[in-house]
Amino acid sequence: MGSDHPPRKLHVIFFPFMADGHMIPTVDMAKLFSSRGAKSTILTTPLNAKFLQKPIDAFKNLNPGLEIDIMIFDFPCVQLGLPEGCENIDFFTGDNNADRQDHMTLKFFSSTRFFKDQLEKLLQTTRPDCLIADMFFPWATEAAEKFNVPRLVFHGVGYFSLCSIYCMRVHNPQNTVASSCEPFVIPDLPGNIVISKDQIADCDGESEMGKFMTEVRESEVKSSGVVVNSFYELEPDYADFYKSFVQKRSWHIGPLSVYSRGFEEKAGRGNKASIDEVECLKWLDSKKPGSVIYISFGSVASFKNEQLIEIAAGLEACGTSFIWVVRKSTGDEEEWLLEGFEERVKGKGMIIRGWAPQVLILDHQATGGFVTHCGWNSLLEGVAAGLPMVTWPVGAEQFYNEKLVTQVLRTGVSVGAKKHVRSTGDFISREKVDKAVREVLAGEEAEERRGRAKKLAKMAKAAVEEGGSSFNDLNSFIEEFSS
Ligand code: UDP
Repeated sequence: MGSDHPPRKLHVIFFPFMADGHMIPTVDMAKLFSSRGAKSTILTTPLNAKFLQKPIDAFKNLNPGLEIDIMIFDFPCVQLGLPEGCENIDFFTGDNNADRQDHMTLKFFSSTRFFKDQLEKLLQTTRPDCLIADMFFPWATEAAEKFNVPRLVFHGVGYFSLCSIYCMRVHNPQNTVASSCEPFVIPDLPGNIVISKDQIADCDGESEMGKFMTEVRESEVKSSGVVVNSFYELEPDYADFYKSFVQKRSWHIGPLSVYSRGFEEKAGRGNKASIDEVECLKWLDSKKPGSVIYISFGSVASFKNEQLIEIAAGLEACGTSFIWVVRKSTGDEEEWLLEGFEERVKGKGMIIRGWAPQVLILDHQATGGFVTHCGWNSLLEGVAAGLPMVTWPVGAEQFYNEKLVTQVLRTGVSVGAKKHVRSTGDFISREKVDKAVREVLAGEEAEERRGRAKKLAKMAKAAVEEGGSSFNDLNSFIEEFSS
């Protein structure tokens, strides 16, 4: 202000953890910064770069002149004790052997420390204005500090779960209940939010994972702040609580998914659709507005056969049109489809085995509801599309996210998952699937829920437009780190 010099171009380095749920919003974030005049560099490994390159190229073609690039870091899996090609957690999250999966997860987390030297060299030579590095790279704060580069943390989740986790850590209410399924109110958290011990990831502080999470927290405290994929109007009480009690320096700049605007950009998210996107949209075009339920559990959860059979039976019983994305556990190969199921639902149901063009499906007018595992990206994408949801949390922080939808926003119906079970989830019967889908699609309460969901979608769009809350927070961020 007051200077005649044009503002200097901000250079931001983004370093996402190698999981789709972290890389997808980071690419959106890098695109957002570029479109606001910054130079964005995304760091990743060779195999992940292949998936990211196409959406980045699509963005550059649509926006010539904007600066966004990928830089590849070496990640020698075998040398690090990982299987060849294990550059993304999707390499092992489909494994239904829980112990093996836990072991691999820890090994994968600790292997990322190998990036530290490469990161330091890069920061030393390029001197960016800031580094937005994933929460799972706790060593990044120290690396950035060496070269006086501010390190920001990106968790990939919203304020509500960040605040919930904070209150749980401070008060430990789960230690005072008589049984693990007994509901209790999360102390101090606004809104009298009810949860049970079974629904949270209870991480023993002395375990390897517990120690790692302590390191994550400590690096966050020493960081220059947090960038949040959310918008103020979605969770104002929790944004305020977070800034008052948890991490004073935070900027909310989402929902990030809405920055992918054209067909190509939306289709390219994740860049591995197992179906022709145009065919998928044509199929949706043939359906009545609001009549299709979309069912997906993100990029990590993978159900066992017995659960898939229940979903199929529940969908068949409720008789609605559906698109169902199936990601199966490995080592569970026997036939899971009910006999004749695909024949009977022909024309009515579409099964996508693998990866779906999720945002295109959610944004289509034929889609009327979303059965979701409540991964934060999916949840926000559902919010931005104005959809009521059936909440079916599986693991991670998803049960907290469910409470936001069912207890605060009141735009969803819980399918009734009672237990946090990483990857495979709590078992849900066909009757519960049938009931929750019917409830979310039709009836007086469904209309009210839909009305609230549509209002939120409007707020989401307004938040990212000029003068909106996320637009303004991004402005503040750019101003602060450019100076
Ligand atoms: N996604 C997708 N197609 C799929 C499955 C997932 O495009 O078939 C995207 C989804 O739109 C979201 C991300 O992958 O952006 C998943 O992130 P989320 O936080 O919802 O769940 P996670 O995979 O981390 O459990």
